Amino acid sequence: MAYLILARKYRPQTFDEVYAQDHITNILKNTIEMDRTAQAYLFTGPRGVGKTSLARIFAKSLNCLNDGPTITPCNTCQNCTEITQGISTDVIEIDGASNTGVEDIRDLQKELMYSPSNSRNKIYIIDEVHMLSKNAFNALLKTLEEPPENVVFIFATTEPHKVIPTIISRCQRFDFKRIPIPAIIDRLNSICKIDGVTIDPEALFAIAKKADGSMRDALSLMDQVLAYGKDYISLIDVLSIFGIVHTDIFYKILLSVIEKNASGIIELLHDILEKGNDIQEFLNGMLDYIRNLLLLKLEIKIPTISEANRKQMLEISDKFEDADLLYIMTILIKTKMDIKSSSNPTLVTEMAFIKISRLTELKSLDKLIDSINTGKPVQTQPRQVQPIRMQPVENKKVVIPQQPITTMHDKTEEVKAEIQKEAEQEKPKIDKLTIEAVEENLESITNTLSKQKPIVSNYLLKCKIRNLSNNFLHLASANSLAYDMLRDEKEIISDIFSKHFNLKIKVDFTLEEDKNKKVITDLTLDNIKKESPTIAKFIEDTDSIFN
Ligand SMILES: [Zn+2]
Repeated sequence: MAYLILARKYRPQTFDEVYAQDHITNILKNTIEMDRTAQAYLFTGPRGVGKTSLARIFAKSLNCLNDGPTITPCNTCQNCTEITQGISTDVIEIDGASNTGVEDIRDLQKELMYSPSNSRNKIYIIDEVHMLSKNAFNALLKTLEEPPENVVFIFATTEPHKVIPTIISRCQRFDFKRIPIPAIIDRLNSICKIDGVTIDPEALFAIAKKADGSMRDALSLMDQVLAYGKDYISLIDVLSIFGIVHTDIFYKILLSVIEKNASGIIELLHDILEKGNDIQEFLNGMLDYIRNLLLLKLEIKIPTISEANRKQMLEISDKFEDADLLYIMTILIKTKMDIKSSSNPTLVTEMAFIKISRLTELKSLDKLIDSINTGKPVQTQPRQVQPIRMQPVENKKVVIPQQPITTMHDKTEEVKAEIQKEAEQEKPKIDKLTIEAVEENLESITNTLSKQKPIVSNYLLKCKIRNLSNNFLHLASANSLAYDMLRDEKEIISDIFSKHFNLKIKVDFTLEEDKNKKVITDLTLDNIKKESPTIAKFIEDTDSIFN
């Protein structure tokens, strides 16, 4: 028997088999049960999410010879089987992409005069309807204005903005969603079981991620993997079939940046190029990786990274400031553009990575921001440290505002000297720590901490004061990850507090999870904007790269 591609073999045949579009299938089922079928439907959404499959299922529901209209078409009667095979004379599928002219619509109009031959309804499924010519649209509009009895139109399109509004307004519109990674994994998993193939969960994740929300793409990727003919499929197999660079490589590159290991970075790069990976794909992968690091730093849940990766990514993101990552992204984006017009893409890429490897040598944040700005399109706001007044007790002292800090985990000698100098400066003299003093100085203390632990310092700033007695300060964190990290560093934090106030101060943390806190699971720009306008702006400017 000839091999039947998975997308055909596992095409959904009932409402319940349609993945991740419950918001649509539920309404369609209701309209069938309540006998309130509309005359025209518009199915919109990305490719491969089930628009035409659902159109066929809906057609079967309406025309099934067993108990139709029904929400559970039998899939065995003549009408159902003909619709499945695409040969029903009453369910006509038209490809808008190849039948774009007004004559095609005129033919359709003529045909409409004949009533259905063997069914209750005549159903027209017009795929890629946005491809129709203007005249064809107008002719179609006339038909929709005075539709014959028992005729149902189902239009499908990936580009609804190209469909004229007068058509859209006459349709019941359904927007199909991209299929979430877990739903794709679930489907692929069941297929592997049926086919008796064992597959590494990370490999499944990689396929689902590459499918980018399209079930059809996921199934066709799976076809390629199964064609490999192995009983066990590993992550490495999948990565090599599709030429995807393992995220470990990005991790290693960034680690080498921290370790100032320029030759290590170039070796990794050569290794990737020697394996025949496409440079643009590689740069895209690294951009995507760094973008996710930035989102992780904002505590945004990212559905496109696996749990195994998440831990490693949190670890590496902790070693970089936002500005560092934005800087690397800027270089990568520029490289992507430069290699398009270069006769030696390898050289251009190499130069870029040498530049990235020198990140630690850029000593001040100002320099970093300058270079980002000249490279456009980012405008990172320099961190302004407000002068902080010491309010309480006897000796009113003014704490000298600190300079904007360097960004790398690895401190250069210059920064070390600066910290030392700061430590030697006069400190506020108080006998006993007060809540007001903590509040007034928290920003200054977190600035000191951020030189060693940028992420932890960020979390510290978000803490609430819960209790203070005898120089024992209790702070509460609303985030469990932050709490874990703060607890781990409480000795260092106590030390910085002690030095800052010239007092022996102990700091400890409690976890008070905010029940009202909204977890951002929806990765929309608006949501990201609320957390960080800078990163949102950057993502907006660079979005074309990811889409
Ligand atoms: Zn049937």
